[in-house]
Amino acid sequence: MCVIRLPVDVGDPVHRRAVERMYSTGFSMYRTAQRRVRSRLRAYWATRGERTRDPARLRERLRLSKKSLEYAAYADLNAAPHLRRHITKALAMNLADSVWAAAERHLFPDATGKRFGMPGVGRWYDFRRLPGRAQSHTEEHKWESFRLHGTLAGHRAAYRSTSGRFFQPRRMRPVAEPKSWWRYEGPLALVFSGLPDGTLILPIRLPSAPSNQAILDHHLGDPSKWHKIDLVRTRDPSVLGGWRYEAHLMVLAAPYASPATRAAREAAAIAGTGRCGGIDVNVSNVTIASHENEDDLRVTRVVRGAKARTRAHRRARQERRRLRALDRSRRAANAAQYELSKRQAKRARRREAAGLRPVQVIPAGPRKAGSDGKPLQAYWRDTLTQGYRRKRAERAAAAASAARARKADARTTAKRVVAEHGFRFVVEDVSPRTWFKRWGRALAAATPGMLVSAIEHEANVVAAIANQRGGLARASTRTTALSQHCLCGQRVAKELGQRRHTCVTCGLQGDRDTIAAVLAAHVVFGTRNEPASARVDYVATRTLLARLPSKEIDYRILLNRDIGRQDAQSESSATTARDGFFVTETECSPDLVVVARRIVGGPPLQSQMSLAPRQTTLDRIGMRTNLSFGATASTWDSS
Ligand SMILES: [Zn+2]
Repeated sequence: MCVIRLPVDVGDPVHRRAVERMYSTGFSMYRTAQRRVRSRLRAYWATRGERTRDPARLRERLRLSKKSLEYAAYADLNAAPHLRRHITKALAMNLADSVWAAAERHLFPDATGKRFGMPGVGRWYDFRRLPGRAQSHTEEHKWESFRLHGTLAGHRAAYRSTSGRFFQPRRMRPVAEPKSWWRYEGPLALVFSGLPDGTLILPIRLPSAPSNQAILDHHLGDPSKWHKIDLVRTRDPSVLGGWRYEAHLMVLAAPYASPATRAAREAAAIAGTGRCGGIDVNVSNVTIASHENEDDLRVTRVVRGAKARTRAHRRARQERRRLRALDRSRRAANAAQYELSKRQAKRARRREAAGLRPVQVIPAGPRKAGSDGKPLQAYWRDTLTQGYRRKRAERAAAAASAARARKADARTTAKRVVAEHGFRFVVEDVSPRTWFKRWGRALAAATPGMLVSAIEHEANVVAAIANQRGGLARASTRTTALSQHCLCGQRVAKELGQRRHTCVTCGLQGDRDTIAAVLAAHVVFGTRNEPASARVDYVATRTLLARLPSKEIDYRILLNRDIGRQDAQSESSATTARDGFFVTETECSPDLVVVARRIVGGPPLQSQMSLAPRQTTLDRIGMRTNLSFGATASTWDSS
């Protein structure tokens, strides 16, 4: 199953207004459902005796179920005819469903035994998704809420220049309602029926670049595989209305892989069959070592090239500038909340003494706070100007595109790593989260976690092609202590700052991370997928040691591909849907966008700025960034 993002054309002001109202109505329905489920959940936790006796019955009594939330949404809409103009009952119930999903995660623990916290009440800017309902594949012509109609062939035939080239105009042509949508074969359109004002028909824009046509054929060629559509909006300060809209079409098909990628993966599946690899993750680089039956040792280190570093510096500078501009704008709009700086205060006193009238300035001093250090006025109560909001959205957009570039970068690097080192890896079971406190910025710049997830994904795909076990196994640091041992089995204690490994027993020399990676390549597990059962097979490492041509292990450097934001495949947008990146990346929660914004750099002004409530501490960045490692891992599906 995969998802393709199709930009929706809302150039027509009537269409745009309809979609905007659909969102604002959907948002109020969504929030009502969230408040409702919160109060019921609170009642559930407060009723202790009854809960311990019979939790299921208590849930039923408190109407804590998907069904009753759906009915409540239904009843809400019945009681509010003014809302019914912009939204259908099916959509209201879908929204209630999505609220229930969060409540369910809170009520019941997942496979790891963890429960989520109490679901919050969402904010307007985080409300992005209007969930559709899946097409019925057993019953014909049954597809509620958002539907996609038309055919790819029809779309291409309708937009063909005189020279026969497929193109997409700046403004898409409107699609007229046919007699029957199910027999319609014209250009693709997103259709939403059931509104009192008639069916909403939004033209779809397809990328026209020749390189994308194979991707389109793969996803859109067979309408019977189309499954479900969500309408998703993204903030984009450059378009009218400030939001871009996309239809996320879920297709019942394997993710697309280009012929070149498929060939490379098949070659890697054959070449990597006998290889075992180990990965050592460092704050600023990743070292990969692999061997084939204790022979043919290869060591590669992935580092950022000079170009990538300068680019990161430039980006960081730009980021600081953006933050300063935001801070200035906030201060200007909320001057009463800030003290004057020392110099400003001195000047004001001087002018007062001289009998001059006070000048208006943007206060540059600290935020006015009580004796406990808490601001007198919470940040979220501040007045924010339109300019501030626009700048903030620009910053988020820039950060998201930078994150995409980094992800594309990680994927290409991962492909090269797997081609060279095979598809079986062992990595130390440490979460980069714990490093964030100390190396937040360095980590954010190098994103080793992202590279490791990319390697894991690629290794899994190649292992599936080879029809063998593969992927990434995690070994406990405690049972292996990779950085403290030598290939001969001796313990070689090293301080964290000591980057060289020199063994007095066998005379082996090498970089600390290299030796650790070679050891990781020899880790064996007592129980599969159990980090604590990991042990280093020192018999094997001694065999390898004896076969080494010299007592010094060297590594080859693999530069991260150094692509910049401009060279990276960019996202499709309303006016330019150019390239391969419109194959999603499902963003499963609004948090991911926040994550993207955060990765770009632990901004120095962050705690003061509070660009959005609830996400200010470094710890949280770590948490969130770590979340994104997990979340992105499963979503790399294009390529
Ligand atoms: Zn040794």
